[in-house]
Amino acid sequence: MSAVEVSQCSRCRKPAIIFQEYSGQHYCSSCLIRSVRKRIGKELRKQLILPKSDKNELTTIMVAVSGGKDSAVLLETLHHFLKNRKDVKLIAGCVNEGIEGYRKPSMKCAEKLANSLDIEFRTLSYKSLGFDDMDNVVKIMPNISEKHEEAKGMSPCSFCGVFRRQGINKLASETQADYVALGHNLDDMAQTVLMNLQKGDLDRTLRLAPHSWSPIKGMAPRIVPIRWIPEQEVQAYAMSMDLPFHDDECPHSHQALRILHRDIVARMEDAVPGTRHGLVHSSDSVKEMYMKNKTPDEEEFTKVANNCKSCGQITSQEICKACIMKKWLIE
Ligand code: SF4
Ligand SMILES: [Zn+2]
Ligand SMILES: [Zn+2]
Repeated sequence: MSAVEVSQCSRCRKPAIIFQEYSGQHYCSSCLIRSVRKRIGKELRKQLILPKSDKNELTTIMVAVSGGKDSAVLLETLHHFLKNRKDVKLIAGCVNEGIEGYRKPSMKCAEKLANSLDIEFRTLSYKSLGFDDMDNVVKIMPNISEKHEEAKGMSPCSFCGVFRRQGINKLASETQADYVALGHNLDDMAQTVLMNLQKGDLDRTLRLAPHSWSPIKGMAPRIVPIRWIPEQEVQAYAMSMDLPFHDDECPHSHQALRILHRDIVARMEDAVPGTRHGLVHSSDSVKEMYMKNKTPDEEEFTKVANNCKSCGQITSQEICKACIMKKWLIE
């Protein structure tokens, strides 16, 4: 596009940097920043339920950061909205997967951002949790799948996702977090909704964050304040705000199923703008309907309310996946 063809911002007529197909609006960087903040603020007010009665009660939010753009925007916007509240504390927690050349530079970005906002920064490695660096896990994966039928066809991300969840749970308990904030954007959420529907996995749909109105026993509720912001807008916001973030792909990202869903959601959105919002709204409606029809004495999400016989963490099985995988790694 040549300079004369640059579209104007629909709000202020300055040169636009982004076009929202689903709303028909063009945005310049300052109007985009305002709009993104407005949407995140609105969602945060819904999801973050703070105790009203006791003014001295401190609510701790553990913000899961990775050094990528999504969690950078999450941390910066949470800080923007909550910095003046004496009753809320933000802590940035980063799980180190042990991926050479990828995790270190991204952790540096996460730490830099946390420091610049004066937010405590904590890290935890897979090794310290009793697993192994992802680079080593990838090396021994062929051996594992030879020995264990269940592990056949698993991708590095299947292991990594389970380990990361443990890491986030550990960081949450170490920091005595009341909430865990996750940086899932609209594209991530829509892909997950589609994956859960495709698997016919209603339990997962019901357990999908935010957990503010549907807590899972034994777990700090997850909040996802940036869930209505499309990935492209998250990126544009992070760049307009000059936030430090790392944009490289993980060398083990062969999560074929996620890539397929990313592609499908993008094509559906192209054909019918607003599809991503629609998918996430449908998942919300299913959850709402379930919550409405639940009898008051019914346990919330009973299927996940077991404790692992080996480590005590919340699981839907007798032995949690993390413990099973831990065993595979040492056998
Ligand atoms: S792409 Fe997969 S292996 Fe890499 S960090 Fe993400 S989940 Fe882990
Ligand atoms: Zn503008
Ligand atoms: Zn366990």
